Amino acid sequence: MSEIQAEYRKEQQNQDLSEQFERVQDDQLIQQDQKFNQDSFEELAKSKSYNELAKLAEKNKTQFKIFKRLKWKGQLYQINESIRVNFKDRLRIGIIKRIASIKSFVDNQELPLLQLNWYFSKIELDSSWEKYIKCFSEYELFLTEISDFIFIGQIIDKVKVLSLSEYDSFLDDDISGQNRLFFMRCTYNSEKKIINPNPNELEKVCFCDMPQNPDLVYIFCESCKKWLHMECVHLTEDEAKNIEEYICIECNK
Ligand SMILES: [Zn+2]
Ligand SMILES: [Zn+2]
Repeated sequence: MSEIQAEYRKEQQNQDLSEQFERVQDDQLIQQDQKFNQDSFEELAKSKSYNELAKLAEKNKTQFKIFKRLKWKGQLYQINESIRVNFKDRLRIGIIKRIASIKSFVDNQELPLLQLNWYFSKIELDSSWEKYIKCFSEYELFLTEISDFIFIGQIIDKVKVLSLSEYDSFLDDDISGQNRLFFMRCTYNSEKKIINPNPNELEKVCFCDMPQNPDLVYIFCESCKKWLHMECVHLTEDEAKNIEEYICIECNK
């Protein structure tokens, strides 16, 4: 072997060694990373911290997959559908914003998660809206900016969130199973405590000039063509039943 050849081989060996060394280091790094994720994954999955779990998995494209729809126990769930879920021992309603599946590092099992935006009911609004509580319905929802990941097994059922006019016509049809029927006319920013549109911009009814609450009973005046609260015109439901064509106190003046 010539001197040059020997030198070349030595260099090659060194290179091989350094390459090997680097590769070993990389493997170690990957193993460490996976070990970290695996432990965290198990811990977060056990404590049902799905927000943190999703955040962790989102960094790793092979572990985090996004879907448009997902079948679970024979039921198909899609983005923008509203569902009732069991969340922290409470019944909550949310709209599906993202469907994701997180692959476990432990056993490669898929963990299906849904990212929801929560709806508020009127009792969750800030007390500064107290004045309007009477014109909001028990079945009225306010979509908020608050979002959480839930495990798909937390779903109770699907609900329908309609516009107020759709909801009104459903009520006229006397559809059964009303408890799964809701409506929304405003959103709510929980941080700024703002209802949008502002309730005073909503369509008003009656002399009292308040937004309509479909839970209340109204009587229609054939003269001014207004829907009036029974309370505001001092009528009981029984009295109203016997009136064929109602002319309100204002129009009778
Ligand atoms: Zn009124
Ligand atoms: Zn009238």
